[in-house]
Amino acid sequence: MSREHPTITLPPHGKSRDDVIAAMRKQRAKDVDWHAGQVFSLVFHAGDEAIELLQEAYTLFFSENGLNPTAFPSLRSFETNIIAMSAALLGSSGSVVGNMTSGGTESILMAMFTARQWARANRPHIITPEVVLPRSAHPAFEKAAHYFDMKLVHVSVGTDLCADVAAMRTAVTSQTIMVVGSAPSYPHGMVDPITEIAALAQEHNLLCHVDACVGGFMLPFVRRAGYTVPDFDFSVPGVTSISADLHKYGYAAKGASVVLYHNRELRRHQLFAATEWPGGIYASPTMTGTRPGGAIAAAWAIMNYLGEDGYTEIAANVMQAATAIKGGINAIDGLHVLGDPPMSLLAIGSDSLNIYEVGDEMGQRGWHLDRQQFPPTLHMTINYAHIDNVDRFLADLADSAEIVRKFSLRKTGNRVTVGAAKAATRMLPENVVSRLTGRAASLVGTGDSGGVPQRSAAMYGMMGTLPNRGDLKEIVLDLVESFTMPEDKK
Ligand SMILES: *Cc1c(COP(=O)(O)O)cnc(C)c1O
Repeated sequence: MSREHPTITLPPHGKSRDDVIAAMRKQRAKDVDWHAGQVFSLVFHAGDEAIELLQEAYTLFFSENGLNPTAFPSLRSFETNIIAMSAALLGSSGSVVGNMTSGGTESILMAMFTARQWARANRPHIITPEVVLPRSAHPAFEKAAHYFDMKLVHVSVGTDLCADVAAMRTAVTSQTIMVVGSAPSYPHGMVDPITEIAALAQEHNLLCHVDACVGGFMLPFVRRAGYTVPDFDFSVPGVTSISADLHKYGYAAKGASVVLYHNRELRRHQLFAATEWPGGIYASPTMTGTRPGGAIAAAWAIMNYLGEDGYTEIAANVMQAATAIKGGINAIDGLHVLGDPPMSLLAIGSDSLNIYEVGDEMGQRGWHLDRQQFPPTLHMTINYAHIDNVDRFLADLADSAEIVRKFSLRKTGNRVTVGAAKAATRMLPENVVSRLTGRAASLVGTGDSGGVPQRSAAMYGMMGTLPNRGDLKEIVLDLVESFTMPEDKK
């Protein structure tokens, strides 16, 4: 059998603490420098003081385990507080209950699972439960359907990039159990018409989940800061569950989200208990068993440290930056913001330039912008880490657009460039793109990886020419596998 990857074993003898830390610092030097405020979406940063507080709170409860609330009443108190504060913020009039989870994905998995269990109890005629949702909804719903054997019915968004409620209505069948809207959607930052989606749910006695993972701890403060925000929370009749991530605009440490339900009856379907285990009676409300106390403690700490005033001030600053960035993008010849996003997420598109080339140029200037598809855009999640970088960002973006404009004029005959401009492509973080390139190249037969373009725009163009999307999925799954294996030393 051929050796697929190098064998790595535990070191026979332990190393010194200094050596271990030094080795990790060396690795870390290769990571993106999020602290400089040039990375979007992956890190939410509310300033150094906030980070220090999070670290202190996390370390204080570093060893504690959220699995057993009777052993750690402190964690239980933090958690019930966090849930209550979140529910109040998101329009609860008192009946809302919920749980903390490790993140938005787990919150959505729980909401989907709960809907399935609710349907089993209340809609026994349903064989394969269906969930109707806009195409812009987060892939965590697909993951949930993948895990829990449910069917998703995706509906195209309207020209305004919001959920098309009339189309959603048409997609409802006798097997439908839930409808979904996002507040806002990740790709374009648009808030779906939650009031209409929830009314549709009520018409057909369906559940209605609002994915406020990225907006739940921002939109209420955007509104408080004086901006217009459409209704999206439990104050809207018909909304039955909400997911909201503390580790995004809640500025908590990673591993903190909430899933909330409009009442106890619905949440009951989520809970799990094993009563016959020799190890004792075991019960747990969410997917995880052992849960890091640090994530719970840090979330409680930041909520109390910032408070309503602090979050509102941050939101006001972020919105000022976001407004300037939106205006600045629209003022650059050839570039535009898609739709009219009410918050601080947006997509940059172009009708005349290869936007992925613009992304490459920005990458050379240190800005990490994720690529999106259908249509090709660059994604931004503007948060507190970025507020001092607005002018520099816009200047670099204008520069990048200008360079790409000249480049495109010179290269209009280049098939790869033309292909890239129209490509149906796949969103992947920039830093994984080059590894994908070699595999894609062999599939489309553009020859050995020596001829593979190093810049992502050409690579995305090539991905668009793959024979079919099934191949693409297999390539991506290969890549996912490869990430769990040690890299070959060259
Ligand atoms: C981030 C996000 C999620 C998933 O959350 P994770 O914390 O990454 O698991 C779901 N929905 C939306 C709209 C998001 O922005």
